[in-house]
Amino acid sequence: MPLLLGCIADDFTGATDLANNLVRAGMRVVQTIGVPSVPLQADVDAVVVALKSRTLPPQEAVAQSLAALRWLQSQQVQQVYFKYCSTFDSWYRGDTRGNIGPVTEALMQALGCDFTIATPAFPDNQRTVFKGHLFVGDVLLSDSGMKDHPLTPMNDANLVQVMQAQCQRPVGLVDYRVTAQGEAAIRARFEALRAEGVGVAIVDALSNDDLLRLGPALKGMPLVTAGSGVAIGLPANWGLTPSPATSQLPLAGGWRAVVSGSCSQATRAQVARFKARGGEALAIDPLALNDDAAVDRCVEQALTWASTRLAHGPVLVYSTADPAQVQVVQQQWGVQAAGERVEQTLARIAQGLVRAGVRQLVVAGGETSGACVQALEITQLQIGSQIDPGVPWCHAHSPLVDQGLHLTLKSGNFGGEDFFQQAFVLLQSASTGAA
Ligand code: ADP
Repeated sequence: MPLLLGCIADDFTGATDLANNLVRAGMRVVQTIGVPSVPLQADVDAVVVALKSRTLPPQEAVAQSLAALRWLQSQQVQQVYFKYCSTFDSWYRGDTRGNIGPVTEALMQALGCDFTIATPAFPDNQRTVFKGHLFVGDVLLSDSGMKDHPLTPMNDANLVQVMQAQCQRPVGLVDYRVTAQGEAAIRARFEALRAEGVGVAIVDALSNDDLLRLGPALKGMPLVTAGSGVAIGLPANWGLTPSPATSQLPLAGGWRAVVSGSCSQATRAQVARFKARGGEALAIDPLALNDDAAVDRCVEQALTWASTRLAHGPVLVYSTADPAQVQVVQQQWGVQAAGERVEQTLARIAQGLVRAGVRQLVVAGGETSGACVQALEITQLQIGSQIDPGVPWCHAHSPLVDQGLHLTLKSGNFGGEDFFQQAFVLLQSASTGAA
């Protein structure tokens, strides 16, 4: 079967978010961690290559994205989708105003295409674009928390201007009145802009219906660039419609565990809820992780603790803590070193749990997920059904145990308070076919 859609995502959890939208709209999807070195084995409709290019300088982001494109072309994908953040942020230093423009133009050149779109709109997730201006909830991007982001500040909400500052080609606008009229009007506007020499069009979208109206106008466009929202309107271009079959994963078995290194508010509430409902939970103490021997001891103790409890239900091992506690740890080790030390410890615990028979694993935290996936030597994830918005169950093969396992990678602020319990209930019912 030919691959219909090949996606390049500029970060890991963003890739999962996109894959999740495609599955819900009717595609069977695999996400790869980085650019694969071998052809895809799975029979799917779309593949999402997860890069870590959002916070890289343009030259490096372009090189990684072109490598991903070459691999996708070797798989003969019919359309390419470059996915970035719904707040349109990326590397920003001095005169370099982001890498979204440079990556877009490099992909256009490599694909020999002279026109594409750019829109981070995803109204279901509170991202709308009106007259080219990006709103986060009720406020302009430039009035949102993104204005103070330490790495990628966004102090201009006018995406035509933002994109123009990053592009050589002229940037234009398809405004909301055109989007509202649907495919024919949108295509006519594309042609008019193209005739004016515009290479990239920002597209307004105020509702998910706008994204569904935009979808058909993108049929046949070699390159689409967007947040994850535009994806909801693409599968229909190949006659695909939402179906439970697309999110079907192999049957789940084995022990269940949660590893949490996220200190975000939502995760803190999820850990508290898990414990309040009587779940078996073990906190690891980052201050005790003095050296390699201390890390070894911590991992061993956690695995011994878990070994007597795994048979009785999901166990939780966590470093999740409130900001004051995190600050104490960061003062002791430094921000970077503290993060890495905790990530490595949790990743080794996840590795040990899987070796001990865990086959249903929830990981909380974006960076923590990256470390766990790496420790488990996982390179591909098949995307299953959604637990909470943006967070699906996945199935992956780990060479460590030479077997498949189910895992879900939850970025910090995602998921309701009962996420940990609900995730396993959902997987159980998906596996037994219960409602
Ligand atoms: P999120 O998705 O919530 O941002 P991440 O896993 O991406 O979660 O980031 C959390 C970071 O905080 C990781 O680097 C993790 O190792 C680190 N960390 C976790 N627990 C603690 C703690 N108790 N003290 C200090 N740092 C911690």
